[in-house]
Amino acid sequence: MLKGKNALVTGSTSGIGLGIAKALARQGANIVLNGFGDVDAPSAEVASLGVQVAYHGADMSKPSDIEDMMKFAAQRFGRIDILVNNAGIQHVARIENFPVERWDAIIAINLSSVFHATRLALPAMRAANDGKGWGRIINVASVHGLVASAEKSAYVTAKHGVVGLTKVTALENATSGVTCNAICPGWVLTPLVQKQIDAKALALGVDNDAAIKLLLAEKEPSLQFTTPEELGDLAVFFCSPAGNNVRGVAWNMDGGWTAQ
Ligand code: NAD
Repeated sequence: MLKGKNALVTGSTSGIGLGIAKALARQGANIVLNGFGDVDAPSAEVASLGVQVAYHGADMSKPSDIEDMMKFAAQRFGRIDILVNNAGIQHVARIENFPVERWDAIIAINLSSVFHATRLALPAMRAANDGKGWGRIINVASVHGLVASAEKSAYVTAKHGVVGLTKVTALENATSGVTCNAICPGWVLTPLVQKQIDAKALALGVDNDAAIKLLLAEKEPSLQFTTPEELGDLAVFFCSPAGNNVRGVAWNMDGGWTAQ
């Protein structure tokens, strides 16, 4: 379905971003990966799906790095058709104890990077398809873009901002073939969440499995993690012809978290 299209997924060396990159690659899209840590294994996994893969190590907290990455992607593949703004970090502390440097980093990586990558991707998307435009911007927000939890001030602020930016991006491009939507996962078992499970296990003196059960029971009625594969399939739906007029939604995939 996406053969001939090129996708850039930020923060795709692990977790949800890698899941979405693989789902898009399975549909034939070439992929630009981004993120820290091991690059060889995720690149090989995506390449094994029969598409072209490139990697750029932009630090998403730095606008100049993002500009460099978008230029690199355009040079490598001609144009980015699908932008998945996924890179994100977390820090958990009460507001009065929240390190200022962590606040600034979360706002830069989880929110401002979405603005920068979007503004740089839009001109080519709008020019595509003989000027009628074709593009898909998919922002990985969170249930924390819709509701709050204590001790996550920067994250909740950034993710609510991402949901707002998603709506503005959708409206500004509503008469073109460029759509923008947000995905709002509940708990997904990735390195980002494993850190929170480890902290819970330590604080309560319980093992990993018990900490997982407590974490899910607190917020997620299904008592199941959402998986990167499920989120990847939702991203594929947004890219499909059926997604042509899906604009500005914040689609939760959260086991009932926000239904309560
Ligand atoms: P993860 O830690 O597995 O992946 C995060 C990715 O972002 C990694 O590739 C990492 O290298 C990259 N990254 C971190 N800082 C970066 C930076 N400065 N520049 C470039 N890349 C950077 O986490 P994840 O759980 O897969 O999170 C992905 C997205 O999903 C985040 O935006 C997160 O907020 C969101 N999310 C996660 C969950 C969950 O339960 N895991 C729930 C809702 C939303």
